Amino acid sequence: MKKLLLAAMAAMSVTPPAAAAALSDAIRADMPQLMTLYRDLHANPELSMQEVRTPAKLAAEMRKLGFEVTEHVGKTGVVAVMKNGPGPVLLIRADMDALPVAEQTGLPFASKVIGKLPDGKETPVMHACGHDTHITTWLATGRRLAAMKDQWSGTVVMVLQPGEELVMGAKAMLDDGLFTRFPKPDYLLAFHDSAQLPAGLIGVPTGYALANVDTVNIHVKGRGGHGASPQTTKDPIVLASRIVVALQTLVSRENDPLEPAVVTVGSFHAGAKSNIIPDKAELALTVRSYSPETRKILLDGIRRIARGEAIAAGLSEDLMPVVEIEQPSADATFNTSPFSDHLRQLFAGHFGAERVTQPRPIMAAEDFSRFWLADKTKQSTIFWVVGVRKAKWDAAKGDMTKLPSLHSPFWAPEAETVISTATEAMTVAALDILKKS
Ligand SMILES: [Zn+2]
Ligand SMILES: [Zn+2]
Repeated sequence: MKKLLLAAMAAMSVTPPAAAAALSDAIRADMPQLMTLYRDLHANPELSMQEVRTPAKLAAEMRKLGFEVTEHVGKTGVVAVMKNGPGPVLLIRADMDALPVAEQTGLPFASKVIGKLPDGKETPVMHACGHDTHITTWLATGRRLAAMKDQWSGTVVMVLQPGEELVMGAKAMLDDGLFTRFPKPDYLLAFHDSAQLPAGLIGVPTGYALANVDTVNIHVKGRGGHGASPQTTKDPIVLASRIVVALQTLVSRENDPLEPAVVTVGSFHAGAKSNIIPDKAELALTVRSYSPETRKILLDGIRRIARGEAIAAGLSEDLMPVVEIEQPSADATFNTSPFSDHLRQLFAGHFGAERVTQPRPIMAAEDFSRFWLADKTKQSTIFWVVGVRKAKWDAAKGDMTKLPSLHSPFWAPEAETVISTATEAMTVAALDILKKS
């Protein structure tokens, strides 16, 4: 299988100019309808694992195209399969959830939706990560592949995934039989919109694309008392402060300098009044890495430092800090070679080399990683399609601090460019992977 794959990938295929122009024309003709869908999705975002309207709407569209559609896979996910003769199985995934963010883009179709968090609290909801561009591209790619059935052979498994923002949805779909109830994929493909560089550029990383992300809570205990009598207490604020400082040595002293790692203490809460020594302090950390080895050094180190500092502070065994790693945590997303290198060349051949880059990995996370981790013999790639309006990029002169990032209430991608570029890239990739022999 691997030899065959390498041979197939070595034979670089570039879409013939007439076929490429026909594909661009077909996508352009579909754009008015797609933008209507995009605006509707943007105005009606749904929180993670609460997606109802979105999957129902998209499932109906995919059924009309001739896909065999199964709903409610992993609670709210959709799987749409098209079998079209012998050949490999290609999984194309789009995530569909939105975020608890109050939109401030000023767009005429901005979201006014109020949703409910799992704890029952009300929150404004917004597609602040651009998953509405992913969903629209997913349908647009389905349309192209259905219309071009005579030009490919194999099976397409289109996956509309819930709950990416909570890194829960991919696992929910796998646990619900994604790889056993449906054709098992040989290739895994996804894209994410990007808030770096001008719109229309495509980035295809090779190797690690996104990081391991662990949220770690440290419950520091102490013995409270009067602020005037510290000798009768065990001050958890001083202990937690020492833990925060000691944690800085994990990356600077224990980690291989050539292995990326982040340990950030983002939250430190303790005490209520100036003259009371409290009996606890709470720390919350984000811990990021790529390799499993680095991840282990960091997580083991956090446990050891918390305990070691507590011992040094003279705390008894029953008052040792409790270190808790929140679940689910996110595993690093890996783009395999030769697949990702091949796609980069394929896109450069199709769109022109000036529109395609090989970006560095980023320290954010995705649960697309889980599909490949479930079977590492497969080939997998996630790529970026940039959505920053050219005028805004030029005005910012490349200064990222002047531009909204993903998850910002101001993130308003140039959706038409993202959707048309991503649809074209997805379709070109699918036609290449599933080319008739
Ligand atoms: Zn996202
Ligand atoms: Zn996101």
